[in-house]
Amino acid sequence: MYDINKIRNDFPILSREVNGKPLTYLDNGASAQKPQVVIDAITRGYAEEYSNVHRGLHYLSNLSTERYEAVRAIVQKFLNAKHEDEIIFNSGTTEGINMVSYSWAAPRMQAGDEIILSTMEHHANIVPWHFLRERLGVVLKWVDPELDGSLDPQKVLDTITDKTRLIAITQCSNVLGTVVDVKAICEGARNKGVPVLVDGSQGAVHMPVDVQDIGCDFYVITGHKLYGPSASGAIYVHRERAAEMQPFMGGGDMIDEVSKETVTYAGMPLKFEAGTPGIVQTIGLGAALEYLMELGMENVAAHEADLAAYAQERLSGLNWVNVQGSAPGKAAIFSLTMDGAAHAHDMSTILDKKGIAIRAGHHCAKPLMEHLGVAATARASFGLYNTRDEVDTLIDGLELCHKLLA
Ligand code: PLP
Repeated sequence: MYDINKIRNDFPILSREVNGKPLTYLDNGASAQKPQVVIDAITRGYAEEYSNVHRGLHYLSNLSTERYEAVRAIVQKFLNAKHEDEIIFNSGTTEGINMVSYSWAAPRMQAGDEIILSTMEHHANIVPWHFLRERLGVVLKWVDPELDGSLDPQKVLDTITDKTRLIAITQCSNVLGTVVDVKAICEGARNKGVPVLVDGSQGAVHMPVDVQDIGCDFYVITGHKLYGPSASGAIYVHRERAAEMQPFMGGGDMIDEVSKETVTYAGMPLKFEAGTPGIVQTIGLGAALEYLMELGMENVAAHEADLAAYAQERLSGLNWVNVQGSAPGKAAIFSLTMDGAAHAHDMSTILDKKGIAIRAGHHCAKPLMEHLGVAATARASFGLYNTRDEVDTLIDGLELCHKLLA
């Protein structure tokens, strides 16, 4: 049983007011709020258990190493990775994708090689590939979404040529809410020998993830959207791909031996975790993922599917609001524009006065904005603690926007 009142009570910030109104937090696509268990894990991490990890011989170093390393098995379970050493900690998706670009792609690509992307990608899954275009002459090939915002996996597979070296694709659009059939893409790509990186920044938040079932080579998550601390995250790297990677950053913790003449590296995954990591952030990420697994990602997905259907129904009653993307099974992410001259930023400002937090802008997805022909949208993105009442509050706020801006 999904006890929404109990769940809301787990998140202290949800009981505060903003601008004299109860907070209606609908900016989860940008970053989610934190349950008390995460806040407690962070506090305990610093107040009682803190020291640097790995190699320390004293009690606190051993304890924080134990707490930090225990998170690897939690992430492994959350993603259903086959091996614990396929999980590399990092500061989030941006670092994860840059690591793949520097460690795996750059050393093995040359001018004319091709990378396939969808037009719906976040800049974090675009710019690292532009680096390779600029520096190596790699060619970026783009697959557009359909009119309803869905992405046809066959179109992605039809874009493969004998020069394709990678497909990098989101599992869920942070603008349209479109859920991409990444399993079909991975299956088709594998048959043609093309590795696939899945950006799970949004996907892993809204649905159960099984990287073995998806069959991807890389799967990236970012902790702050998963109700965990900012600057926490992880990437799943299939062992076969890990064996092909060169270290991205050099420093402490990632070596086996260093001398004046030579260096040898630690094994997976430490080889890719140079320097003092986000120790407490990672411990907090572990607490967040345990919280999610306790709720059950199937239950989270079912709750959010109900919210998405209700929001869609209510929004369809506002004939001056355009919802970008209506792909079947879309996540509860609604990018809105209003007829007339209303700007998304003005909508956000008016909603804020009512205590409603949404996001206005291009959502770090400029190629998609260009494709849609809009400069900005007002995005309401729902999370596991939102309610139908909050959908109603949003609709009331939008009606006020219409009254003031139309
Ligand atoms: N990919 C998608 C689909 C996102 O929504 C985001 C964040 O908005 C990112 C990547 C980047 O995540 P981060 O800024 O946590 O690295």
